[in-house]
Amino acid sequence: MVAEKRRDVAQRTHCGSTMTAGPHHRIQAETVQMGYNRGAEGKDVFNSGLRIGRIFGIPIYLHVSWFLIFALITVSIAGYYAQTYANWSEWQRWVLGIITSFLFFGSLLFHELAHSVVALHYRIPVVSITLFVFGGLARIGREPSQAKQEFNIAVAGPLSSYLLAGIFYGFEQLTPGVEMAGALFGWLAFINFALATFNLVPGFPLDGGRILRAIVWGWTKDYTRATRFASRGGQLFAYLLILLGIVVTLQGAWGSGLWLVFIGWFLLSAAQEGYAQVAIRNTLRGLRVGDVMSSELPTVARSISLEEYVQELLRTGRRCHLVVGDGQLLGLMTVHALNRIPREDWSRTSVQAVMLPREKIHWTAPEEPVLGILERMQSEDVNQMPVVDGSRVVGLVSRDTILRVLQTRLELGKMGELAEH
Ligand SMILES: [Zn+2]
Repeated sequence: MVAEKRRDVAQRTHCGSTMTAGPHHRIQAETVQMGYNRGAEGKDVFNSGLRIGRIFGIPIYLHVSWFLIFALITVSIAGYYAQTYANWSEWQRWVLGIITSFLFFGSLLFHELAHSVVALHYRIPVVSITLFVFGGLARIGREPSQAKQEFNIAVAGPLSSYLLAGIFYGFEQLTPGVEMAGALFGWLAFINFALATFNLVPGFPLDGGRILRAIVWGWTKDYTRATRFASRGGQLFAYLLILLGIVVTLQGAWGSGLWLVFIGWFLLSAAQEGYAQVAIRNTLRGLRVGDVMSSELPTVARSISLEEYVQELLRTGRRCHLVVGDGQLLGLMTVHALNRIPREDWSRTSVQAVMLPREKIHWTAPEEPVLGILERMQSEDVNQMPVVDGSRVVGLVSRDTILRVLQTRLELGKMGELAEH
């Protein structure tokens, strides 16, 4: 029964530790409609949780779903203590339940930090770490450029969890006779061991799937094929979980059963997403900013009010303008900047007061690859960039434009495939 209960908690939480790499996430939000990644205007919901701090410069977020899972885990652990240590008071088991739950999420954070530190070592930016319903998620700014890097980033997570399991086991051994400490450390040792082991399942997007992809990638030198392979592994494992969930549900344990189905479904969509990312990569490969930029350069005068600016937006439908004065480029004005100002202040605020000033603009060049610019837009959180050639502004490139190009190419690609068969 004890083991049964422990396993139950393990199933509830341990799926989480997945890493996702960045740029395509936004695209996914629009094309694949991943359930967990949707937000207003394609804004990533993972960046809109409660920010609880920064570690190594990485912002740490609690997603709204975390509060639910924290409560569920605490109830579950307190229930396990109630069954195992009948002599404990209500107060004892709840307090220890809450402490265990916090340390458990601390362990998840430690796991994600392990991935992140290795990524940072390779100068790969880490956008954020989020704790959410399925565990933890470290978002890295770009895909590793070498198989060895991917291998090391992926393997760091499970290794860190095994390390924690060992440490907690050591604490358990060091506190004989202290029943509450023994219970706490014993549970944490078990759960970290289970977390590491679950994540080593060789199916993308689990760490084991990334390790598998790194190995196949290193071997075949073919990133696309490696991803397809690891993603198939992930889908197979996801279907097995769903099947197991259905069997468990039919046997009457519908709580655990449905949870397994839910986790399976989550892994399935994430595995398919991994596959879609490769399709996107292939589709955009070889394209440069110069190919997709708009060379029309809409400008507005710095002195006009925001109300007049809105008129300009409504008239032209353009969402981004260069701000000029005395023949000089002064800044960049966007709908995003406009929306930061309350509507009642629009008539008495000038464009110059809210624009992104020239020195803060992120620039690109016509020869920069489109995939690279998407990654930069993601990690710098901007939607538009002016394109400079030498010292001249020659165009504007926006996330919307790139998405449109992507969509068209994917559609035409499908038509091309149909025509071939
Ligand atoms: Zn991991």
